[in-house]
Amino acid sequence: MALLVQKFGGSSVADVAAIRRVAQRIVETHRAGHDVAVVVSAMGDTTDELLELAIAISPGPPPEREMDMLLTAGERISMALLAMAIADQGVRARSFTGEQAGMRTDSSHGRARLLSVTPDRVQATLREGAVAIVAGFQGVSEDDDVTTLGRGGSDTTAVALAAALDADVCEIYTDVDGLYTADPRIVPSASRVTRITVEETLEMAAHGAKILHLRAVEYARRFKVPLHVRSSFSDQEGTWILVGRPLTAAVEDPMEDPLISGIAHEKSLGKVTAVGIPDRPGAAAKVVGAVASVGVSIDMIVQNVSTSHSATSDISFTLPESDGARAVAAVRDLQHEMGFADVLYTSHIGKISLVGAGLRSNPDVAHRFFGALAQAGVNIEMISTSEIRISVITDQEHLADAVRSVHTAFNLDADAEAVVYGGTGR
Ligand code: ADP
Ligand code: ASP
Ligand code: MG
Repeated sequence: MALLVQKFGGSSVADVAAIRRVAQRIVETHRAGHDVAVVVSAMGDTTDELLELAIAISPGPPPEREMDMLLTAGERISMALLAMAIADQGVRARSFTGEQAGMRTDSSHGRARLLSVTPDRVQATLREGAVAIVAGFQGVSEDDDVTTLGRGGSDTTAVALAAALDADVCEIYTDVDGLYTADPRIVPSASRVTRITVEETLEMAAHGAKILHLRAVEYARRFKVPLHVRSSFSDQEGTWILVGRPLTAAVEDPMEDPLISGIAHEKSLGKVTAVGIPDRPGAAAKVVGAVASVGVSIDMIVQNVSTSHSATSDISFTLPESDGARAVAAVRDLQHEMGFADVLYTSHIGKISLVGAGLRSNPDVAHRFFGALAQAGVNIEMISTSEIRISVITDQEHLADAVRSVHTAFNLDADAEAVVYGGTGR
């Protein structure tokens, strides 16, 4: 007998039939003798629809507290309906809001961080032999206000719950059969990855593969929670994320790292450039400090080398497009004081990242990567690397073609097309 946390994303509970199907899977696991705690997202695109409603009511930035009140309603609907569907199949089930499940967070609405997880009521429910269902992506702050963990945050709720319950595994059920070598919506020939290290998964999630919430992967690594990403629409085995803890014999660590585990891509990025900054110590710190002070996270940074006669340099950095205006305003505020020439902004920027533990030991990868981009006629604007990743910034227009070219260049194409069972990819 095992203790499982099963998380179902929005596309898995999009309508009545889907909720019934998910309930059936939970009931089967429960009847096989396992304890099951479930984390559920809002139905289908409910969260997006609630956001649209808020914008329709008031086009300006909405009060953050009320936004969280609104968005958490989505998960409240799906958790109650799922509990009813499970009860209908003859198994007791009880649903809990984030607060009832002991998800304490800080008070940063819309991007709250978990401070503690004390799922006493979930544990009591499991002891009674019932199924516990927890609303994803929500918690309660120290001031007793409802908070959300950020878009896609139900994965993080699931992993945090699995860690607090010391679950044997956290199963992430979604609309594809696991983690693929690229987003199957962009690359239909993508191959399913059977096993991948948590470090590679972190790089994929951090650079746009939205199959898993980045913080969920960080949490899984820290608390050594094995993840199994799979489809709720099929019985196919999915992808195991290895966290350095022995699993069953069926899920052994691979003998050797594959060269490339996957390609992540990201669109809707922007690039800010401060032009002609006097080249002296502290200049870069001042620019990035100003951006951080308005709550914007910078992704890639490049500073070009100053030429001896001008003694100035340019600093460029990328960031989510939605943060562009705030970052530009923050840098402009420094222009007079620091005496630089201009601030430029480019939107519609894309990024492609090649991830693989095998990158460490293979010096030819960058050459093949850039070669594939050149062949696709894609210009590289910036480059950054980690030990197991190479990322390039390109324009957004040719992003999908570029991802497909690189995928083929590294022989990652599968014979059969990947199945996308549902969801809108929003
Ligand atoms: P859920 O609603 O279940 O949380 P998401 O939409 O957040 O599902 O994540 C699943 C989607 O992630 C897939 O439909 C797919 O388009 C996208 N995705 C992006 N990169 C990958 C990848 N490398 N492997 C699989 N899916 C990916
Ligand atoms: N419903 C939330 C969202 O759409 C949380 C989640 O599904 O993970 O972002
Ligand atoms: Mg998701």
